[in-house]
Amino acid sequence: MKHIPILSNPYMMRLFRYLPPYKWLIIGAAVAMVVGGGASSLIALVLGKLTDMGFYDKDPSVIYWAPIALIGISILHGGSQYLSQFLLVRVSQSVLVQVRTLMFDRVLHWDNRLIQENKCARIQAKFINEASTALGGAASIMTTIIRDSLQIVCLVCVLIYHNWRLTLLTFVVAPLLAILLRWVNKRIKRLTTQTQNIFGQLIGTLQESYEGQRVVKIYDGYEYETKRFFKVNNTLKDLSLRTQRVKAAATPLTQLISMSAVSVVVVVALLQAQSGSLTMGEFTTFLSAMLLLMPPIRHLSTLNGSTAAMTAAAESIFQTIDAEPEKDPGTGELVNYRGAVRFENVSFTYPRQEKSAVENFTLDVKPGEMIAFVGSSGSGKSTLINMIPRFWAPTKGEIYFDGVPQSELTLASLRSQIALVSQEVIIFDDTIAGNIAYGCKDRVTREQIERAAEAAALTDWLATLPDGLDTQVGNAGNRLSGGQRQRISIARAFLKDSKILLLDEATSALDTESERHIQQALDSLLKGRTSFVVAHRLSTIRNADRIVVMQNGRIVEIGTHEQLMAKDGVYHNLYSLQFSSQNEG
Ligand code: ADP
Ligand code: MG
Repeated sequence: MKHIPILSNPYMMRLFRYLPPYKWLIIGAAVAMVVGGGASSLIALVLGKLTDMGFYDKDPSVIYWAPIALIGISILHGGSQYLSQFLLVRVSQSVLVQVRTLMFDRVLHWDNRLIQENKCARIQAKFINEASTALGGAASIMTTIIRDSLQIVCLVCVLIYHNWRLTLLTFVVAPLLAILLRWVNKRIKRLTTQTQNIFGQLIGTLQESYEGQRVVKIYDGYEYETKRFFKVNNTLKDLSLRTQRVKAAATPLTQLISMSAVSVVVVVALLQAQSGSLTMGEFTTFLSAMLLLMPPIRHLSTLNGSTAAMTAAAESIFQTIDAEPEKDPGTGELVNYRGAVRFENVSFTYPRQEKSAVENFTLDVKPGEMIAFVGSSGSGKSTLINMIPRFWAPTKGEIYFDGVPQSELTLASLRSQIALVSQEVIIFDDTIAGNIAYGCKDRVTREQIERAAEAAALTDWLATLPDGLDTQVGNAGNRLSGGQRQRISIARAFLKDSKILLLDEATSALDTESERHIQQALDSLLKGRTSFVVAHRLSTIRNADRIVVMQNGRIVEIGTHEQLMAKDGVYHNLYSLQFSSQNEG
């Protein structure tokens, strides 16, 4: 009868693939809908019969059975409606849980490139808004499709049975309706996609101004933030208004078209009645069937709007699910890994960048060696560090671990050998113990956690807390100082006890006092591990086995502190610059 996008959209069809386990619930709901749909056409028949028997034949029994029949039909209709809705909501909520779980799992396994490309707020919007739009409405939409189409079929049968000539007349309007609905559908789909993006921006703006409160306050960013929020907030309103306007116009327009058909039918029917070829009962049945046709047609017409929104949401969800996860084709495991790392002609260029961040880097690192990377900001130090656990895979060249190419190892095996302490410490909403034992809670003993905390110089501080290790750190660890957070992350590394240690500006965000405190913990963490250290303060890496001086992604100097100082080159310059500025300060 009309174009139903739900059946032609591949993403929507994919949602249906989750349905088989719930087939009995769905069959139950469908049966209920069939009963409900049939019941409504009974009303037209009963009304017609009632007219003929009550008004022409003056049959007194009509007074008894008419109300009973009408109430009975309503109960049948209402009861089946309740049952079908309830069953379908159960199905759609179960599928919603599955889809969200799947999305979460996929997003968790995304690689750096995808994470960089997708703003966090946009992903949040997908979880909050789009998943429920796609599925929350699925139940009612299915109801509409099954029940209302069935009602339409039943009522049209009643019409044809009673007067096929009149019925044919009403079908003239069908193409008109189809054109109208197709237009509505297109517009709503486009508006919905726009709305989803703006919704993501709304969350993003909120998040940024909320998390950046201190910057907002100190730089008086209130007006800027308010304006920014006002803009997205109002854009969202405009889009919603436009969407609702299209939806709101669709219903009366549909009704107008259908009512024109009804008018034509009424005129023709009245002419037939005057010539005596139509009884009053027949006319009543016909007219009530036509009027009963209106609500399901209206539902189907608004359905177009909601399915357009749903298909847009489903598209967005499945794009998230389909995005290629982090590549992990390696199958090798590192067994009895000793800790050797060899870079061989490693180059790396960030996605969508022309200049390489690391160029032709070659370095052979022995087990237990401490390597320090030094160089101005942007020289490629972090990029190198991030390639070791394959957060970024080298675009050229290979990194070998005890001679095994990185690309042949599973990511899990590779990463199990590596601990990372960086400038930004991620604290999870858990206890301190839970944070230290992040990812290995079930595998470690309380004693191991305590020892790690002690090695990270946390014991004194923990003693001042009433719950000690079991203190909840709260969301994102806002209640912790920079030094405390950093020591938690060092304890994490101690507990992992891995062969390779990566320190990327681990103490750069700290004041000198905390840095000194933490440096001791870091020094003991470094012992016996192959370590790669980027440190802002050059004095902290003086005792590195080798210092690699980087410039524009290339090695310019390499050697021990003494060798490089004697060379009187880049390192010597950097060091004397820092030393003199420290003395002045
Ligand atoms: P360093 O840690 O030595 O300061 P990085 O390794 O972070 O330097 O950066 C090296 C180069 O790569 C810089 O030119 C920087 O602008 C660029 N770069 C770093 N991270 C990214 C990224 N995520 N996307 C694109 N370019 C990046
Ligand atoms: Mg860096």
